[in-house]
Amino acid sequence: FERKKILVLGAGYAGLQMVSNLQKKLSFQDADITLINKNEYHYESTWLHETAAGTMEWQDGVYPINKVIDAQKVVFVPAEVTAINKDEQTVETTHGNFDYDILVVALGFESETFGIDGMADHAHSIVNPQTAVKAYREIEENIANYKRSNDQKDLSILVGGAGFTGIEYLGELVESVPELCEKYGVDYNKVNITCVEAAPKMLPMFPENLVQYAMKFLEDRGVKFMVNTPIVAANEDGFIVEVNDEKQQLEANSVIWTAGVRGSKLMDETFEGVKRGRLVVEPDLTAKGYDNIYVIGDVAAVMNGEGENARPYPTTAQIAMQLGEHTAKNIELTLKGDKKEPFVFSDKGTVCSLGSNDGIGLVLGREIKGKKAAFMKRVVDTRAVFKIGGPLLAYSKGKMF
Ligand code: NAD
Repeated sequence: FERKKILVLGAGYAGLQMVSNLQKKLSFQDADITLINKNEYHYESTWLHETAAGTMEWQDGVYPINKVIDAQKVVFVPAEVTAINKDEQTVETTHGNFDYDILVVALGFESETFGIDGMADHAHSIVNPQTAVKAYREIEENIANYKRSNDQKDLSILVGGAGFTGIEYLGELVESVPELCEKYGVDYNKVNITCVEAAPKMLPMFPENLVQYAMKFLEDRGVKFMVNTPIVAANEDGFIVEVNDEKQQLEANSVIWTAGVRGSKLMDETFEGVKRGRLVVEPDLTAKGYDNIYVIGDVAAVMNGEGENARPYPTTAQIAMQLGEHTAKNIELTLKGDKKEPFVFSDKGTVCSLGSNDGIGLVLGREIKGKKAAFMKRVVDTRAVFKIGGPLLAYSKGKMF
């Protein structure tokens, strides 16, 4: 009996949930488990908009990976993956090469600017703790600078995209920017927060009344929405948008792009047929033709339905954690010589927060809004820590206590 080498790439929601479950299922004689991750910590990517608005310190949204793994069963290597050689069954990293019998690719997401001219250089994104901190620093510096500059651009904030991230970010901004104004002696009424959205409607997964509720909440607190307005470029002065086929410059010194994410670029280099860094996976979550390679989390397109009507599920923390759990189960089955099982998504619903005390949501088929939604969001956020790290971590890092 030979111990199998299981190599896991990425300690986000999918990868870390997978390791957390697998180490409970296997004894240390069953397999060698190695986890590779760029940072020594896991970050709650669904909380980053709070850091980017200054309502949460980045340290509060991260925890050391060592708090989760069982060192008897799992070796954790902080390193960056640089290549996956799927036919040789090896992985190259900044800390040397690793071979494997079973590979779990859970490399997560990065910003996608769709090649929009100037976007990568002139706008901040909210994709990891570092970028989130930078986005907030920009806003604070500009507001602080206004007293000296008297330049309206210092009080203008542009948010590109009204997806989940954009809306949740605006919800935090309308809490933190008034406080910043007070701190630096600036009148909040002079601040312009503008959200630019290409689609005619935002948050299409929610019923109209909840969308209206969210828009009104944000508009009442000073946010201006421009829908049906694609951003076509970014420059030193802000965004260039298209209104009625005419280009228009929107001016601001604080510019944040929340209008697109994609799976890791390493996916394009490793697999064929990858779109926006996502590979369509088999029902058992493996890559086609490689039944020892699982692809989970934001690098996976998990299809809902079959044939022409099949659509990928949205990439969320909820599905990522379920993919991690399912992969742990399938690896256990494989090691026992049993057949793998197909993944079935259990949709618990979604909550979109509007700052710390409000929000909208669809939970187990029911519409919620206001304080109830804010409470549910804290439950969801705490549950994510609990499911991966257990009760002690949920107590120290969660949002319930
Ligand atoms: P997204 O891709 O879902 O939304 C991006 C938005 O930007 C869209 O509304 C799109 O129309 C708009 N957009 C794209 N290009 C544009 C352009 N050139 N000009 C103007 N607008 C443009 O991205 P996201 O909000 O970061 O979400 C990513 C994933 O994470 C999604 O699957 C989402 O469901 C999930 N998510 C979920 C939650 C939650 O459940 N609370 C929170 C955050 C993210």
